[in-house]
Order: sequence, then structure tokens, then C-alpha cells
Amino acid sequence: MTGLVIVGAGECGTRAAFSARDAGYSGPITLIGQETGLPYERPPLSKPDAGAVKRHKICAGADLRAANITYRDGISATRIDVAAQSLALSDGTAIGYARLLLATGGTPRRLRCAGAEQALVLRSYDDANAIFSQPLANRHVVIVGAGLIGLELAASLRRLGARVTVLEAGARALGRAVPEPLASRLVARHCAAGVSFRFNCTLDAISKGQVQLNGGDVLPCDMVIAAIGVVPETALAQGAGLECENGICVDGQLRCSGGAIFAAGDCAALRQPDGSVHRFETWRNARDQGILAGRALAGDAACFEALPWFWSDQYDLGLQVVGNVAGAPAASRKLVQDGEILFWLGADGALIGAAGLGAGRSSAKDIALAERLIQAAMPVTPDALSDVGQPLKALLRRATAA
Ligand SMILES: Cc1cc2nc3c(=O)[nH]c(=O)nc-3n(C[C@H](O)[C@H](O)[C@H](O)COP(=O)(O)OP(=O)(O)OC[C@H]3O[C@@H](n4cnc5c(N)ncnc54)[C@H](O)[C@@H]3O)c2cc1C
Repeated sequence: MTGLVIVGAGECGTRAAFSARDAGYSGPITLIGQETGLPYERPPLSKPDAGAVKRHKICAGADLRAANITYRDGISATRIDVAAQSLALSDGTAIGYARLLLATGGTPRRLRCAGAEQALVLRSYDDANAIFSQPLANRHVVIVGAGLIGLELAASLRRLGARVTVLEAGARALGRAVPEPLASRLVARHCAAGVSFRFNCTLDAISKGQVQLNGGDVLPCDMVIAAIGVVPETALAQGAGLECENGICVDGQLRCSGGAIFAAGDCAALRQPDGSVHRFETWRNARDQGILAGRALAGDAACFEALPWFWSDQYDLGLQVVGNVAGAPAASRKLVQDGEILFWLGADGALIGAAGLGAGRSSAKDIALAERLIQAAMPVTPDALSDVGQPLKALLRRATAA
């Protein structure tokens, strides 16, 4: 068998194709994507400029041709024959591979209440158009789920004049990824913009023009959007007997349990040293794992080591989070324009995580420095982290000189 085949032309799969070529692979590379058109970025879909959903391309057709990557859009991979190293496709053909990358991403989790099929979701360009192409001014939109996508949607829809209610099953917003103090500030910003929240609240039913809540309340509404998370797309891997556990299990080199198969991006569950698996659902992870997977496909044996990092934009506020931000922060530093950055220390006193919230990109520089401090793995005191008189750059200089 010759050639590299990549299934999934999102951020991860597309980066992998270019990365394999950049790493010197000279054989055929085929990128297969079930969506039509050129690969595009997902983050702008929940943050449309003035309501216009734009398709931000990851690469141009000319880039694919220049790198001699065969792009087959509008085609699904339907079955892997591991023994024959062959992939069956939805157009009835099959393609052999020397190495295969699964970069199949995820699909939005669906509601299970009566009438659930009436709820819209947001994952693709078509989904975004279905939401934002409707008249929104003064329409009442119910968003189920106060996670990052739900809150970004709430901000965008409010800006377009919609009345927005967010229903959240948990006791607070952004419970999975964002530290409580910053999540509270974001919720306060939403409330100031006129968004209503109901916590500890689930849906019993959706019917034409209304939703019924579990406590019996009924809310009239014009649109319901389910933003309750993403299920990793593992059907191909499971069909091929590959190990899956909340994603397609991979080792540090992004290699699956069988054959010459790799997985990366939102669909991949990275095995940790303690045996647990961790799956990331962020743009940078998809990019970084894609780049590493491309090198692995080309024969390189590097291990994935990048720190988790993500951002979110809501109204005039920008959030950035890097590393491990579980539990209570050890220190807080004030930023310009009422911004704030929180820090987490490990048992050895070294920085392990940071989260910043402020106007626009105001925390970006400090989060980038915090990331380098985490990588330096040198002890740093809470006092030094909180002291605005000591720039993080100076702390980093001291840490790296030590
Ligand atoms: C609306 C939205 C906003 C976001 N905003 C942010 C943000 O602000 N910050 C941030 O860090 N992250 C954000 N993310 C997350 C980030 O975009 C994702 O983590 C990233 O795009 C995942 O890339 P991926 O390539 O792994 O998966 P995907 O982008 O899901 O790509 C997988 C592709 O594989 C295709 N596919 C699946 N199965 C098959 C098959 N059998 N055959 C062929 N093709 C197949 C799918 O159709 C899809 O095109 C956002 C995501 C969304 C949806």
C-alpha cells in the first residue's frame, strides 16, 4: 500500500495534510471530507461580524494543488478494512493507504426531550446560516446550554436584537472549562446586555412556539438552539474494532490501537500516564495535533506535549485559558480596563495554569507569558504573580535564568 489518507477536512485533518508534506513526505496524500467546499474554520461561526456568517477558509484550492494534496470533498469514508489497509467511500469506491489519519471531529449532542428534533444546533457553516439567516430582531431565542458555544451564541444573537434566554442544567455557566470567578463576570456581562438565565433547569418538551421547562413553566419562543456539547465522531473507528473511550484512543504519538492508523483533533482521546484519557475540543489542539499527526504520518515519532489553550469572545470581552485551571486560583493580577488574570500553582509551587478575562485581547500577552512560565516549570510566588509592579516578562526572565 502507498499513500497517506486523511479522513476529515476540518482544522485538524487539513493541517495534517500540509504538515505531512512539509515534513518531506513525497507520496500521494488524499484528504477526504464529507462537507462540500474548501476546508473552513469553525470558531467564526458563533461570532459572525454584524450577523453575516462568513466562511473563513483554512486554505485555498491553489494551496492544496501546490502541495499536491488530492482533496475529495462531499465524500464520506464509510468503512475501514484494517487487514487490507483500505477505506470504503460513499461514492462506492475504495482507497488503499499506507497510513491513515482519522480527524473526524465531533457532532453536536442532541436533546432528548419531546420535540427535540425542532432544536437547531451549531457545528457547521450550514448550521450557522440556518440560525443567522433568519430574522432575529425581537425574536425570542432559547439556548439550551451555558457552555462556550451557548454563551457566544447568546452574545451574537443579542447584538442582532434577539431576546435570549439561556437554560442550563447545572448550577452555573461554563462549568466544564472556565474558572468560576471569570464565568460569573461573563454571566454578569450577559445579564447587563439583557440575556436571561435559568440555572438547574432542563427542558421537558419543545412544541411549536414554546418550550416547557421541567418545573412546569412554559416559555413562548421563536427558535430553540441546543448547545449541550459535542459527541466525538467514532463510528469509523468503532466499526474497525479500534479502542474507543469518549473518543478514539491514541497514545502520545497519536497512534490508535490497531494497524497504521492515527487519530487527532476533537475525535481523539489521548491516553494519559495514569491510564485515563483526555479529549480536547479546542481550535489550537486541533491545529497542533493535526501538525503532529502529519509528521507522524510522514514517519516522525514525536510525542504530543502541547498545553491546553483556548479563547472565547463575548461582546467586548475576551477570555483566554491555558494549562490546568481546576480548583481555587492561587493569585490574581489586575489588568488594564478592569481586566483580570488568575493563576494556579502546582504542589511544587510552579505555575500550572492561568485564565484571563478583559477587554478584547487585553489578556493575550500575559497569557502567552504565563504559558512560557508554565513551560519553564520553576517555582513562582503568589505575591510575585499578583504584583502588577513585576511584569510577567521579568518573572519569566528570572525563571529561565535560574
Ligand atoms: C461554532 C464553534 C465555535 C468555536 N469556537 C471556538 C473558540 O472560540 N475557541 C476555540 O479554541 N475553539 C472553538 N471551537 C472548537 C474548534 O473549532 C474545534 O475544536 C475544531 O474545529 C476541531 O477541529 P477538528 O478538525 O478536530 O474537527 P472538525 O472541525 O469537526 O472536522 C472534522 C471533519 O470531519 C468530517 N467527517 C467526519 N466523519 C467523516 C467521514 N466518515 N468521512 C469524511 N469526513 C468526515 C466532518 O464533516 C468535519 O468536516 C469552536 C467550534 C464551533 C463549532
